[in-house]
Amino acid sequence: MPDVSSPTTSSNPSTAPLPPGMILGPDGKPCKICTAFRHWKPPKDSSKSRKQTQSASVGATSAVMSALAFGQNVAQTPVEVDTRPDNCPPDVEVLGRATWTFLHTTAAYYPEKPTPTQRANMLMLLKSLPVLYPCSHCASHLGENMKTSPPDVSSRYGLSRWLCLQHNEVNERLGKKKFDCAIEKLDERWKDGPSDGSCD
Ligand SMILES: Cc1cc2nc3c(=O)[nH]c(=O)nc-3n(C[C@H](O)[C@H](O)[C@H](O)COP(=O)(O)OP(=O)(O)OC[C@H]3O[C@@H](n4cnc5c(N)ncnc54)[C@H](O)[C@@H]3O)c2cc1C
Repeated sequence: MPDVSSPTTSSNPSTAPLPPGMILGPDGKPCKICTAFRHWKPPKDSSKSRKQTQSASVGATSAVMSALAFGQNVAQTPVEVDTRPDNCPPDVEVLGRATWTFLHTTAAYYPEKPTPTQRANMLMLLKSLPVLYPCSHCASHLGENMKTSPPDVSSRYGLSRWLCLQHNEVNERLGKKKFDCAIEKLDERWKDGPSDGSCD
C-alpha cells in the first residue's frame, strides 16, 4: 500500500509522478480520506493564499515532517496551517487524531479486570478497524501489524500499552517522535492530566 513517504506507486494508472503526499486508494485513484488536506489541493500562490503561514506552530509539526521527508529546506518552507471551517469533512490527520483520542481514552478507562464480554467487545472493536477504517492504507498497515502483534485486551494496562505501541509504529513510519508508553505517561495524557493542574 502507498504511504506519504512514497508518493508514486505501482498502482498509479498514469506514469506521471503524484504530487508529494498524495495517496492512492485501492481503486488506483487519489484517495481523499488517505491524504492530508494540505497535499490534496495544488499549492497556491502565497500572495493570494487565504492560508496563514507560520514559522512554527502546534499544527505545523506534520507539515515540517513532510518537508523533511521530501528533502525540502525546512527553514525556507512556509508552513501551511489548515484554516478550513470546523465543519469540513476530515482528512487523514483530523480522522487520525480523533480516532487515537477515542482509542487511547477508551483504553485509559478500560477495566483492570475486564469480563469475558468486555474483552470480546474490545477485541471486536479493534479487529474491525483494519476492515472498516476509511483510510485504506492506514487500515492495511494496522491489519498487518495485528497479525504479528495481536491486541492485548487482558487489562487496562495491557490495552493502553498495546495501543501506544501501535500508535508509535505509525509515528515512526511518519517520521514523528515516539511516545513514552509507561502507564503513568499514558494516564497523564489520556485520563488524569498533568500534576501541575494545567488541565484541571
Ligand atoms: C489506526 C491508525 C492508523 C494510521 N495510519 C496512518 C498512516 O498509515 N499514514 C498516515 O499518514 N496517517 C496515519 N494515521 C494518522 C496519524 O497517526 C495521525 O493521527 C495524524 O498524522 C495526525 O498526527 P498528529 O501529529 O496530529 O498526532 P497524532 O499522531 O494523531 O496523536 C494525537 C496525540 O496522541 C498522543 N500520542 C502520540 N503518540 C502516542 C502514543 N504512541 N501513545 C499514546 N498517545 C500518543 C500525542 O499527545 C498526540 O498529540 C493513522 C491513524 C490511525 C488511528
